[in-house]
Amino acid sequence: RVKQSGGNDIVFYSSEMDEEYRFKRQLSSNLRHAMENGQLELHYQPQCETDGNDQVIHSFEALLRWTDPELGSIPPGRFIPIAEETGLIVPLGEWVLRTACKEAARWKNPLGIGVNLSAVQLQKHELPELVAEILNETGLDPKRLELEVTETALIHNPARSMKILSDIKKLGVRIAMDDFGTGYSSLATLQNFPVDRIKIDQSFIKKLVSNDQAIAIVRAVINLSRDLNLEVIAEGVETDEQASFLNDHDCRSVQGYKYGYPKPISDYAHVVNPTEFPETTANRDSGIET
Ligand code: C2E
Ligand code: MG
Ligand code: MG
Ligand code: MG
Repeated sequence: RVKQSGGNDIVFYSSEMDEEYRFKRQLSSNLRHAMENGQLELHYQPQCETDGNDQVIHSFEALLRWTDPELGSIPPGRFIPIAEETGLIVPLGEWVLRTACKEAARWKNPLGIGVNLSAVQLQKHELPELVAEILNETGLDPKRLELEVTETALIHNPARSMKILSDIKKLGVRIAMDDFGTGYSSLATLQNFPVDRIKIDQSFIKKLVSNDQAIAIVRAVINLSRDLNLEVIAEGVETDEQASFLNDHDCRSVQGYKYGYPKPISDYAHVVNPTEFPETTANRDSGIET
């Protein structure tokens, strides 16, 4: 099909584009349905402190999971961008934050809880108020909450994100810079934003040991965080070689399949020691108003 658009441009629509468009429409409509019917859940992945031999879990990162009855399991990398385009990310992100805080608040072991924030949420002036409200409502100690943001999310409107983040910091909540090194990276971001911790992106960790550039980058980020007095954690650690490289370079905080997969919190009950258990619907609720 050929369509005449304004002027002399001729726009070609391939059937593949139609298909991609239709698929996105279907995804966003199914996602809305899943949200309204409580079909989303959170999995939790351990973040550990290690000395090279033993490891202790000090926190968990909450990660969204969606299994559609027709389409099967859809990874967040696929549906989060669509939720962002459609604005569904705002109620969805609020649900994630509330659910993760509620969950962490019932652990007898006061471990940390990491929650990802979307760029769209970071543009909302109401965000600090929402965080305060959820902390208040769940009784979670603000020190235990770490919000994960990406560089790209901050760069879009630096002044506004800066104001929002510093208001959130005032609540006593921690901020982590997620996927560090992959975004629209500027070292000034670290100086200007109230960041507590850097998360080295898993793409660098994946290439560790075999790739000289990745080795140089990981070493530089570890040194940088030490010099700036920031905490650092390596994401996506899978192998013993990666683990011992990180240990040799004094990066003691690690996350990855080697230490634990993202799983329902019931699989980590022995670690968090929840007050009431089992509670099979802990990660679900009756639905999100969209
Ligand atoms: P992220 O925040 O960087 O999360 C880490 C991702 O790496 C997760 O993928 C996790 O399952 C995966 N991962 C952890 N360890 C390993 C490993 O050893 N090897 C490999 N190959 N992967 C590992 P997941 O759950 O598919 O999430 C992808 C991204 O989607 C997240 O990246 C985050 O940006 C976004 N996301 C997930 N949940 C949420 C959410 O609740 N809100 C928002 N805004 N974004 C979310
Ligand atoms: Mg993250
Ligand atoms: Mg990451
Ligand atoms: Mg990522």
